[in-house]
Amino acid sequence: MNQPLRLLIVEDSADYIDLLLHAVRSLGYSVVAEAVDTPAAMRAALARQEWDLITSDHAMPEFSAPEALSIAKTLRPDVPFIIVSGEIDLNLAVSLIKRGAQDYVRKSELIRLGPVIERELREAALHRERQLAADKLHEGQALFRAIVEKVGDLVAVLDTEGRRIYNSPSYGPLFRGEDIRQGSNSFLEIHPEDRERIKEVFHRTVATGVGECAEFRFALKDGVTRYMQSDGRAIRGADGAVSKVVVVSRDITELKRRETELLEMAATDILTGLPNRRHFVAQLEQESARILRDKGRCASVLMLDADHFKMINDTFGHAAGDDVLRHLATLMQNKLRKVDTVGRIGGEEFALILPGAALPAAEAFAERLRQYVAATPVPQADRTIPLTVSIGVAGMSADDANADEVLTRADRALYRAKGSGRNMVAVEA
Ligand code: GH3
Ligand code: MG
Ligand code: MG
Repeated sequence: MNQPLRLLIVEDSADYIDLLLHAVRSLGYSVVAEAVDTPAAMRAALARQEWDLITSDHAMPEFSAPEALSIAKTLRPDVPFIIVSGEIDLNLAVSLIKRGAQDYVRKSELIRLGPVIERELREAALHRERQLAADKLHEGQALFRAIVEKVGDLVAVLDTEGRRIYNSPSYGPLFRGEDIRQGSNSFLEIHPEDRERIKEVFHRTVATGVGECAEFRFALKDGVTRYMQSDGRAIRGADGAVSKVVVVSRDITELKRRETELLEMAATDILTGLPNRRHFVAQLEQESARILRDKGRCASVLMLDADHFKMINDTFGHAAGDDVLRHLATLMQNKLRKVDTVGRIGGEEFALILPGAALPAAEAFAERLRQYVAATPVPQADRTIPLTVSIGVAGMSADDANADEVLTRADRALYRAKGSGRNMVAVEA
């Protein structure tokens, strides 16, 4: 197994060149060698090809080891340089080694050459590897920065406790510099209502190594709230354990605003599928207009509100609360005639238009509805939730200037029904 060795010999004596080559070949290297004894020849050889090792005699008629060392360190600083020479002054040897020569071997001790070459080749290989790794790291970092600093997204690198290691420049317009300095707690700027939830997501990512998406709000120092959508990713260290989390966030504040606007513009309430307040009021206005045109016509409006709904949310959870609202919507739809309209006009507030119904009929209908709700608890997987409603009833009149007036009267009646103990119907003429 002959290891190849490209050897540049700075030497003027043909005898020593032969001796050296013989010594190196006998060590088992398959040598490609060239000998030079002038600066120009050495420069030409170094420029022409790569070399694994340079040996240099100390004094030659037209050249010397110090000169050769200078040339080598300028043109090929990484190639090991060994002085192979007759006896030289020890101070000179030390000064050459200080300037970058790897070792000094006496010509009388060529036997030392083997271990020295081996050691230097090993060192050079190691150095090359380290250099390669450092280059790769540098390249990776440059790439990371080039990407991160160009995109509009916010990129944060956090340690496993959520402390900041890096924030991309896109954080600049949102935060003051001191708020995002290295080592600071990244949870502090999260809206207090979202903070614990996001901490949980973060710690889960660290524990499992599986990233998650999340939405949250930043509560900024100037009182502004920004909506963010973020994607966390766990980064593992060499030992395989999660060492960092990279969070890429996008500001979705504008998106949220448009979404809200659209929802408001839409006619239907997403949760219950009923007409929303806006749509309901439009229907009410149409009915008003009909009553104005046709004085003999009558209609009534019901305002209905779930009793102690906050307690239902608090006891059974918000999702169960949503079920209750959908359940209520279904019960009302079951009882309605085709001409009637029901809408969700607030959180747990609904309103109904009963065209053609005078007050007594409307009150009777309201009472039936109240009993029906009270007798039909909300079915859940493992239980039922009892539910009652309070209802205010008001008659529509041609004297009403606008649709809001009848709603106000129905609301007043509802308020009285609540005041009288709830699970009641009250009427306001
Ligand atoms: P009252 O008997 O006086 O009507 O008391 P209440 O608890 O029903 O009324 P309150 O107005 O105090 O609370 C209404 C609650 O309804 C508060 C709010 O969090 C909740 N809520 C509003 N909209 C929704 C929703 O879409 N889903 C759920 N689950 N809860 C909602
Ligand atoms: Mg209520
Ligand atoms: Mg209410």
